[in-house]
Amino acid sequence: MQHYDVIVVGGGHAGCEAAAAGARIGMRVALVSRSAGDIGMLSCNPAIGGLGKGHLIREIDAFDGLIGRVGDAAALQFRLLNRSKGPAVQGPRAQVDRRRYRAAMASAIAAEANIVVVAAEVTGLTTSGRNVTGVETTVGRLRAAAVVVTTGTFLAATLHHGRATSHGGRVGEAPATALATAIAALGLPRGRFKTGTPPRLDGRTIDWGSLDLQFGDADPTTLSDAAVAASPPHLACGMTRTTAASHAIVRAHLADTPTYGGDVVGRGPRYCPSLEDKVVRFGDRDGHNIFLEPEGFDDATIYPNGISTALPPPVQAALVATIPGLERASIVQPGYAVEYDYVDPRALTPALMVRGRPGLFLAGQINGTTGYEEAAGQGLIAGINAARFAGGDEPIHLDRATSYLGVMIDDLTTLGVSEPYRMFTSRAEFRLSLRIDNAGERLTPRGIDAGVVGRDRAARFAAAQAKRDAVRTLLGTLAATPAAVARGGVAVNQDGVVRSAGDWLAHPAVDWTIASRVWPELAAVDPATAAVVAVDARYGVYLARQAGEIAAFRADEALRLADGIAFDRIPGVSPEMAERLDAARPAMFGAAVRVAGVTPGALTSLLAHARRAA
Ligand SMILES: Cc1cc2nc3c(=O)[nH]c(=O)nc-3n(C[C@H](O)[C@H](O)[C@H](O)COP(=O)(O)OP(=O)(O)OC[C@H]3O[C@@H](n4cnc5c(N)ncnc54)[C@H](O)[C@@H]3O)c2cc1C
Repeated sequence: MQHYDVIVVGGGHAGCEAAAAGARIGMRVALVSRSAGDIGMLSCNPAIGGLGKGHLIREIDAFDGLIGRVGDAAALQFRLLNRSKGPAVQGPRAQVDRRRYRAAMASAIAAEANIVVVAAEVTGLTTSGRNVTGVETTVGRLRAAAVVVTTGTFLAATLHHGRATSHGGRVGEAPATALATAIAALGLPRGRFKTGTPPRLDGRTIDWGSLDLQFGDADPTTLSDAAVAASPPHLACGMTRTTAASHAIVRAHLADTPTYGGDVVGRGPRYCPSLEDKVVRFGDRDGHNIFLEPEGFDDATIYPNGISTALPPPVQAALVATIPGLERASIVQPGYAVEYDYVDPRALTPALMVRGRPGLFLAGQINGTTGYEEAAGQGLIAGINAARFAGGDEPIHLDRATSYLGVMIDDLTTLGVSEPYRMFTSRAEFRLSLRIDNAGERLTPRGIDAGVVGRDRAARFAAAQAKRDAVRTLLGTLAATPAAVARGGVAVNQDGVVRSAGDWLAHPAVDWTIASRVWPELAAVDPATAAVVAVDARYGVYLARQAGEIAAFRADEALRLADGIAFDRIPGVSPEMAERLDAARPAMFGAAVRVAGVTPGALTSLLAHARRAA
C-alpha cells in the first residue's frame, strides 16, 4: 500500500490548489483524479475572476497559489471590472483559452516534485476509529495522515437534457457513486444542488459583422500580481441579446425542462440563473444580455454566457436561431443541467476539516459553493491545513477582517448554504481594508509563516514591502503648503496649513501625478508601489476608523468556544437557541453572533460564559 502525507481526491480547482499547497509546505501528496486530463478542467465558462472572485484570486496568489498565475498564462483578454468605482470593489477578470489553461495547470502540478498524480476513481475512505486514514481506489488502497475531498459536481450526480436524465458529473463523465455512498455512510449531512451550462456554438457560423464587440483593457490588470504580461493578445467577445421570440420558445417548453417539469429537487445558483429562470422570474424584460466568449485562440468554439439552459436539444437549436447574430449558428454541444450532492459546510471546522472526523477535509463545490475561484480558495486553505494536520501543527485560521477567504469560510461553516454560494464584495464587512492591491501585504506574511510561500515569491514580497515602507516614510516626511500644492496645477483651499504628502494625497483633487509635480522624487516610484500607497493615503481616515472596528471585532472573535461546548447547559441559553448553536457549532464567539436567529439574550449569556472560560 502506498503511503503519503496528504491525499487529495479530485483534480479540479479545489484539488489542484490543495495538492500544490500541501506540496509547497513539503508534504508528499497524492492527487487522485479519474484521469490526468481532468487536471485544470474548466467545467463551465472560459473566464477566471470578476467581482469578489478577483479578490479571492489575489488572496490565493498571495499564498503563492496557482489559479492567478495559470489564468494569466492562458488569458485571451483582461478586464478590470468596476474600473470607475472605488478601489475596494474593483475585480480583475480574464477570458482564458480553455486548452491552455488546462495545459498550464497540468504543468504547474507536474512542476511540484512532491505531487504524485494517480489516475483512479476513489471509491471509499478508510478509517481507524474516527480518524480518516486513506482512500480506496480502483487501483488499490492509499494511506495518508490527511485526506482532502474535492469532488465538485460529481457526488451522486445526474445530468439533465430536457426531461432525459442520465448519470454523470459533467457531460461524458460518470458520477462518483461509490464515494457518495461512503460519505453518506460517515453520516455527514448532505443536500442537493443543481447548476447548468449553455450550449456551445461553432464560432464560424456566427454573424460577427452584425454584433458589437468587447475588447480587453489596453492596460491590463493581471490576475496574479506576479504576472509580467504587459500586453497580452486581445481576442474580442461578441455581445447580443435574447429576443421576445426567444422568450416565447422558453415559455412554450418550460414543462420540457427538468426544473419546471419537476425532475430536479436541488436549488440552482441565484446569481447565475438558467435562461428558463430568467424568463420566469423577470418576465417583463424584453431581452437578456449574452456575451459570446471565445474558448481559445485555435478553437472556434464559443461559450454564449447568459443562456444556460436544460431545454431539450432540438428546442435549444430553435432558441439560438432567435438571437441576433446567431440565426445560422450551429450548436456543437447542447446545454444541460447537473444535480449533485453537497455536504452541509456547517459540518466543517474553520480549518475545513470535518468535525469529529480527524484527517478528513472537504473543499470546493462539495461544500455547497459555485465557481472556480471559491473552489480554489477553499482548496488552498484545506490543503494548508491538511498538511499542517499531517505535520502535527495547529491549523491556520483567517478571520473575516483578514480576507475574503476568511469571509467565505466563516459564512460557509457558520451559516451553511441554502443555495450555491458565490462570493461578492458585499459579503465582506471590512471591504476598504480587503483590496486586491494589498492582498500580498495582508496575507503573504501569513503564508510565509505557514511555509506555503515559495522562495521566489517570498523574496519578491520582501523587496516590494521594503519599497512600500520606504515610500510611506517618505510621504510622512515630505510636506507642502497649499500654495505649493496649487503650483502643481490643482485648486486647493488656501488655508495656509502645511501638510504632509500623505495628508495631501487624501485630498480628492491630489492624485499621484499632481503629487509628483509637487515632490519630483515621487515620480520615480514604480506604479505598483504608488498604487497601493496612494490608496492607503487617500482613505487613511476611513482605514484608521476601520482598524478600530476590526480591533473590536477581533476582541469578540478571539473568544474561542470549546470544541465540545454544551450550549444547552449554559444558563440563559434556551433549548431552541442551544439547538441553533449546536447545528452551527461556531468555533468562536464572533461566529456565534452570525448564526441566524440567535437572540441577543442568548448571545449575552454565551459571551459571559466564553469570558469566564477564557
Ligand atoms: C454543467 C456545469 C455548469 C456549471 N455552471 C457554473 C456556473 O454557471 N457558474 C459557476 O460559477 N460555476 C459553474 N459550474 C461550477 C464550476 O465548474 C465549479 O464551481 C468548479 O469547477 C468547482 O471546482 P471543484 O474543484 O470543486 O470541482 P470540479 O472542478 O468539478 O472538479 C472535481 C474533480 O474531481 C474529480 N472526481 C470526482 N469524483 C471523483 C472520485 N470519486 N475519484 C476521483 N476523482 C473524482 C472529477 O473528475 C473532477 O476532476 C458549473 C459546473 C458544471 C459541471
